[in-house]
Amino acid sequence: MADEMIYSVTGNPFVNAGSYAIASWLKKKNLSEIDKYDLEDCIHDIIPIYFSENWKKQMYMIFPNSSIVNPSVKNKEERYTSILQELIEDLQPLRNSGNCIACGRRDADRSLYKSEVPLTGSGKFVNFYSNATNGADYCSACALAVQFLPLVLKSCGKMLLLLQSNSHKVMKYWANDCIKNVRMQIATGYKNPKNALFHITEQLIMEYDERWQDENVSLRLYYFTNYGQGPALDIYDLPTAVFRFLTYIKTHPRRTDWYAIVRRGYHVNWNKINENDEESYKNRRNDVYENLLSNKSIVRYFINRTKKSVYGDWSLISYYLKEVRKLDENRINAIKELGDEIASTIKENNDPKRLGHLERAANYNSFRNVLRRLIKDRIAAKNATPLFTFDDYVQNILPEGALRWRETQDLLLFRIYEVLHDWLIEHNVISDEPDDESTID
Ligand SMILES: [Zn+2]
Repeated sequence: MADEMIYSVTGNPFVNAGSYAIASWLKKKNLSEIDKYDLEDCIHDIIPIYFSENWKKQMYMIFPNSSIVNPSVKNKEERYTSILQELIEDLQPLRNSGNCIACGRRDADRSLYKSEVPLTGSGKFVNFYSNATNGADYCSACALAVQFLPLVLKSCGKMLLLLQSNSHKVMKYWANDCIKNVRMQIATGYKNPKNALFHITEQLIMEYDERWQDENVSLRLYYFTNYGQGPALDIYDLPTAVFRFLTYIKTHPRRTDWYAIVRRGYHVNWNKINENDEESYKNRRNDVYENLLSNKSIVRYFINRTKKSVYGDWSLISYYLKEVRKLDENRINAIKELGDEIASTIKENNDPKRLGHLERAANYNSFRNVLRRLIKDRIAAKNATPLFTFDDYVQNILPEGALRWRETQDLLLFRIYEVLHDWLIEHNVISDEPDDESTID
């Protein structure tokens, strides 16, 4: 019955994660299907897990000083069981309003500390919740949900990962995935939380055949520990646009090129490490991931200036430009056309030197000058009046003036390399030097 509903999505990540853990444990499709009797079963399932030897360390990180780990508590298991049973007895169904700081739909009947809800009101996290006083006001249902949190956390080095999303499907799959592995205590295998976030996202997209493009998914990763001596928290957001881009790659014919692009973002010297040994690089900083998370361009990772070659093709990069970089479609097309023009002019004039000029332009003015000369070259070659003026071009190609001109330069090079690569090889323009661009610093 709808009016007996206990759980629905709240504004509190720990309560949400715990609620999804319960639903997943019980194999329920929705939070609304959880009832009081289910919860009774659930607590008897989880208690032996929490008290097992290989969960001890994690419990110190999640619920320090709780009756699960506190050495001064006698008969820990009994004590913890009775705490959970008490919470179930006090459960109230959701109403329209209430003063619980998590759900806001029931009145609080508990004042909780960090031993019961991670990162609550102590030390430097005193302001994490709105009331900076002693403990935080929770209702029994929310307090109980948080006790299921350990089931849906993954470890990441010495920290824990908690995933939140606006998408019910993402929350469900993450919970199912954690629960599936719960007795094995699977770690993410990552110590770098940003890399872990991309790994989790890509796995989700690959493993579950949803119409992710239509979901408008955003993801938030909480990287935290509630450890007694040093609680800590960092938050990483994966924007919806980046999620959509990753789902687009999944279906793109050049998707393997994406792995090469990501590989170039790692801060490693590929000549000095064993590429097959993931451990040697997967926790290093990756600038492709960093840039995607901080709204910076990754265009330069799509081109290899030494080899004058590209990763992916125009359709892949233009999707990225439109979706993630929010570039206007007219501008994207104008850049493509100009790239095509320059490529054919270089070819017709048999003049690869101009390409060198374009590659070496090191500031906005010299870049503009090379473009101007290229347009003159074109007119000279065809002995024709221009189809366009330089000013027309500049307006479409560089609407922000000196801002982001480097990205535009890289985009033009992308298109020129894509179109001219074979011609450049035939004309020995590409040097035999070893490829020093497997990683870009
Ligand atoms: Zn509540």
